[in-house]
Amino acid sequence: MHWSKFYSPTLKESPSDSELKSQELLIRGGFIRKAAAGVYSYLPLGFRVLEKITKIVREEMNAIGSLELLMPIMQPAEIWKITGRWEDYGPEMVKFKDRNKREFTLGPTHEEMITTLVKNELKSYKQLPITFYQINTKYRDEIRPRFGLLRGREFIMKDAYSFHTSHESLDRTYKDMYTAYSKICERMDLKYFAVDADTGAIGGNNSHEFTILAKNGESNILFCEQCGYAATDEKAEYKPDYPESDEKMKALELVKTPDMKTVENVSEFLGVEKGQIVKSMVYSGRKGIVMVLIRGDMEIKESKLRSYFGDQTLRKALPEEVLDSLGVPIGYLGPIGAKCPVFADLSVKNMRNYVVGGMKEEYHYINANHDRDFKVSDWIDVKTVTEGDLCPKCGHPLKTKKGIEVGQIFKLGTKYSEKLNAFYVDSDGSQKPFIMGCYGWGVSRTMAAAVEQFYDANGIIWPRAIAPFEVVITVVNVANSEQLKVGNSLYEKLNANGLETLIDDREVSGGFKFKDADLIGIPLRITVGRALKNGDVEMKLRNSKDVVKVHLEDGYDGVLEAARGMLNAYKL
Ligand code: ATP
Ligand code: MG
Repeated sequence: MHWSKFYSPTLKESPSDSELKSQELLIRGGFIRKAAAGVYSYLPLGFRVLEKITKIVREEMNAIGSLELLMPIMQPAEIWKITGRWEDYGPEMVKFKDRNKREFTLGPTHEEMITTLVKNELKSYKQLPITFYQINTKYRDEIRPRFGLLRGREFIMKDAYSFHTSHESLDRTYKDMYTAYSKICERMDLKYFAVDADTGAIGGNNSHEFTILAKNGESNILFCEQCGYAATDEKAEYKPDYPESDEKMKALELVKTPDMKTVENVSEFLGVEKGQIVKSMVYSGRKGIVMVLIRGDMEIKESKLRSYFGDQTLRKALPEEVLDSLGVPIGYLGPIGAKCPVFADLSVKNMRNYVVGGMKEEYHYINANHDRDFKVSDWIDVKTVTEGDLCPKCGHPLKTKKGIEVGQIFKLGTKYSEKLNAFYVDSDGSQKPFIMGCYGWGVSRTMAAAVEQFYDANGIIWPRAIAPFEVVITVVNVANSEQLKVGNSLYEKLNANGLETLIDDREVSGGFKFKDADLIGIPLRITVGRALKNGDVEMKLRNSKDVVKVHLEDGYDGVLEAARGMLNAYKL
């Protein structure tokens, strides 16, 4: 490709609304353009990267025998109503009506669609197991579309679905997918963790997330250096280590705490440690309102709570809901006299004589004790696990890292097949629901995640496998006919030998070209400039300062050889 004929509008300045480096660099480098919040176009450079990611994902899916197909994005509401997800999926689902008032969604995922698609035609145990996949656009009206391609409202996903006669068979495909996902990361040079994950709205009972390590990632992962345990904080467990208190129970007392609504306020006002206060949080779900207690210096992880209650609609109750149902404003809530079920995190179990809200505006209780002053319906682990908590498997202190989830795999079991009446005939003639798995990979998100992992002050540093071009030939001065001629011949040579090359033959300054080449992150730059006087070109890898001079010979085999060698040595 000749840059003079290419379209890659680069920007000197960062777009004002970019929140993350990947978003800034992909916009500045001319890879993507925003159409609306969470909705992007891919310019030619971005499209090349996307195609490379797609190709790798497709090859790894094909390698494990998964069959590619393409399903509609526009899906009828009926199938979602049957599984109950028309309501349960929540406001992320884009819904609309056609001209005849029939309801549809722009698919956020395709479990209902694939199950309905195969249910009457995939009939016999002899056809199983089988796995299908597609690479398609998904729609999710995310509450906060942000970070460019990382959290779009329109984005590209590879989603695969497998059908089985047994859990052992599902386990095998799950393992194949796990291996395929690991290979995808490795082929792209991405540093990743495969972690134990929450199953969320998709359901099922077993899941792993593939997380690309990046300091600005939204996922927190907890891992144990001793035994290898790794999980997202949405799911992570820990070994509780709360010593029993030998304090005697003291008399419960209601004290005035004017305008003291937060744990910090109350702790300062009463002169007690935050760890001696119990927070009372109120959640609203399908079965109404519940109160959940946790030690004042800890946080509740809502995904763990949702999974405990088996209710994906569960969320923090709004202030007006709290006031309506409990008659007390947030800030003074407590379990004593609360007219709703009270659940408590394990962190509270061994506490004695603690502070809780007074269930009366401007009041707190001191010296509260469970069992004596109120009843706990169940003791549960809903704490957000943090660095230093003990590994649930081996007790070693856990560490944390931040990352970006690029893929997630699930064992679904018969959740969808039973609801949608998707049965096969087994060898004994009986009808059985398919046992299913599903496996998502964020294709467009991967593009941004790779940038989050690899960039420097000058721009993107693409892994070779997904770089829009492998080599850029920078002709420093195109007015110099010798430079342009050599540049073009080299360009022909490298392309003819399978190295994807871009030649910068634009009529702009050398400095401008160097800046652009760094910004768009091409792994190898070959500069045809001043050194040509001595018959040399200069070669440099994007992630290194070293410049290698290579003397030109007839046929340019030496440069080709050097380019191949340097690209093979290019490791991120
Ligand atoms: P998240 O927790 O980040 O919202 P998810 O658990 O909802 O992700 P899945 O339903 O498992 O995601 O979707 C499979 C993959 O699709 C994810 O691993 C991710 O890479 C990608 N993905 C999900 N939501 C988005 C989005 N809004 N924008 C871009 N990619 C996404
Ligand atoms: Mg999501």
